[in-house]
Amino acid sequence: MMTQQERAATPDDFTWFSNPLDWRPIDRLILLGSLVMLAPVLFGVGLLLSMLLTPHFIDAAIGSFLLGLYALHTVLLGGYILLALRQRHQTSDWPAFENFVIGSFVLNVLVSSYATGTHFSQGMLLLSLGVNITSALANIRKILVAYFLVCVVMVIFAVIDFSGQFSPAPLFAAPPLKADGAPVLGWLVVQVAIVVALLAITRISIAAVSRWVEREDLYREMSTIDGLTRLTNRSSFIARGQSELSRARRIPADVACVMVDLDHFKNINDTWGHHAGDKVLVEASAILMESARQYDEVGRYGGEEFAILLPNVSLEDAAMVAERVREKIANARIVVDGQQIAVTASFGVACYPGPGIEDLNDLLKAADKALYEAKESGRNRVITAKPGTDSAAEPVPELA
Ligand code: GH3
Ligand code: MG
Ligand code: MG
Repeated sequence: MMTQQERAATPDDFTWFSNPLDWRPIDRLILLGSLVMLAPVLFGVGLLLSMLLTPHFIDAAIGSFLLGLYALHTVLLGGYILLALRQRHQTSDWPAFENFVIGSFVLNVLVSSYATGTHFSQGMLLLSLGVNITSALANIRKILVAYFLVCVVMVIFAVIDFSGQFSPAPLFAAPPLKADGAPVLGWLVVQVAIVVALLAITRISIAAVSRWVEREDLYREMSTIDGLTRLTNRSSFIARGQSELSRARRIPADVACVMVDLDHFKNINDTWGHHAGDKVLVEASAILMESARQYDEVGRYGGEEFAILLPNVSLEDAAMVAERVREKIANARIVVDGQQIAVTASFGVACYPGPGIEDLNDLLKAADKALYEAKESGRNRVITAKPGTDSAAEPVPELA
């Protein structure tokens, strides 16, 4: 997993609009339908060529039946796609189209693979890859129904094959193999074409899965990171705090917490504008991040309030860290629209374990209370929670 520091350094390069998973269902279906249409078109062309070039290998009746099936499949899919293209402005989904895309693909591949005797080899591969792609683009329940239907059909195929009552590859009038078992030239060409198609479909499957992964990363990022400052958001800061406190309890170890609140921030917004306020938040966050160690967690706790979690750091050391950050912020000049803005911040520091600090809630409350006292006593300062007492807190002497 990336650390917070690495994440902050990662450029913002999301591909929101190019990911089909973000498209509306009807648009995903149009894409899926177009991909599925490749099956009857390619099968049809291959079969037609075989019937024209090597008619003695093909059973004319079954060949014609399959050609009709492919033509019907192509026309119906094409019709659905055209209608969907017209309807996509009015509706966002079309379940009947989805049922047809999935059902017709499965039926087409099952019939074709049975006719060519490839239902336990290439046919199965084609189905699996189709399922891979559709899992990302269509309703997963429908894919599951199709999957179980295929299982049943495969059992039926197995019974047929084992019974020996039926011709194993009814499309072929003569086996596409020579006496020594080598494939005849035409069948070899078909096999190579199938491999090329399977490789292409595999590539699309990989793309579909990588879109999933991309989407997963995006969601994780959106649910844990603050969009403006790129710091950990409040809920994931608290989650990290909980896990650090459980760890500290077992070892045992110290966990310090520094609460930070920018001073008179409302004035900055009022004087320089909201966008200047945002820039100040971003720059202050950058100072907090560069002052923290790899293992620390810096979170945006609220509007202009931040929190730093420092595992394995004592109260005194955390106060020194806070004092260093206070100085850095106070000395920074943030440039917005050519104007230099100065900002200060107040800090409250507390540490687990301590009298009255037994869990994360106590720790955050104690740091917040110290922060409040830093505000009360004049701002731009660090106050350390005095362990054990409810009210007293100690100011931290400024560093030389
Ligand atoms: P104090 O020194 O007592 O903390 O005073 P303050 O003005 O900083 O505190 P107050 O709570 O009165 O105001 C906080 C301001 O922070 C108000 C709010 O509009 C602003 N704020 C919160 N989130 C954002 C943000 O994301 N961007 C900007 N520009 N301002 C924000
Ligand atoms: Mg403030
Ligand atoms: Mg505040």
